[in-house]
Amino acid sequence: MSIELKSVSKIYGKTRAVSEVSLTVNDDVQTLVLIGPSGGGKSTLLRLMGGLEVPCAGSVVYDRIPLSGDEAGLRKFRRQNGFLFQAFNLFPHLSALENIVLPLEKVHGFSQAKAKDKAMEAMARFDMESHSHKMPTQLSGGQQQRIGLARAMAHEPKMLLLDEPTSALDPEMKAEVLDVIEELCKAGQRIILTTHEMGFAKRVGDKIAFLSAGRLIDSGPSPDFFENPSSPEVSSFLQKVMKW
Ligand code: ADP
Repeated sequence: MSIELKSVSKIYGKTRAVSEVSLTVNDDVQTLVLIGPSGGGKSTLLRLMGGLEVPCAGSVVYDRIPLSGDEAGLRKFRRQNGFLFQAFNLFPHLSALENIVLPLEKVHGFSQAKAKDKAMEAMARFDMESHSHKMPTQLSGGQQQRIGLARAMAHEPKMLLLDEPTSALDPEMKAEVLDVIEELCKAGQRIILTTHEMGFAKRVGDKIAFLSAGRLIDSGPSPDFFENPSSPEVSSFLQKVMKW
């Protein structure tokens, strides 16, 4: 599935969160990683690509078909994908298992029995079976994110969109979640990811896009993008964040 962003802009009040971004992602790019300084527009661009936001101008095109602007069309598109955000987006009043079962039933239309089977399968994949009965508050941050990943993957999404999935986690838990995401990459899952973990971005990204102040400054294949940055802004950012 090719993705084409055609001069996409998103404006909130006076803030140009994303400004005239054009980018082509061919279908051989399995993992696209969005990087750049905070407030640069990564999360907004990810949401636009996932159909969670509608551009103010320009279009997001999948296999030459522009994403529909109407809610019914967007809902259908979103159902094909899986999403995971920073942290703490499990329903607090539901067990880990129920957190996965509920969307399978209500959003994806599976019967209760089938939804439970699929949810258990997803929990097993992320090594979380023994925690299925626990409430989110009884799980560590890393475990919560693994349940979030199991939920995002349970309906076998075409694309998995991850918005800074480890930014709220301690280093040890970060590693456990990044390992799981890397496994998904190796298993061939198509992923669009925003992250501040540059080593990880370099390792798993097929294509890297650098955004700053809403603009796409540069994009290119990894690891070349990191080793030979062509833009001074990218180079200066990487020097700062990869120093340690
Ligand atoms: P990043 O993910 O790179 O940190 P964001 O896409 O979250 O950047 O934000 C880009 C800019 O858009 C920021 O200035 C942010 O405050 C603003 N912004 C993002 N979402 C909203 C929103 N829903 N309402 C108002 N401003 C927003």
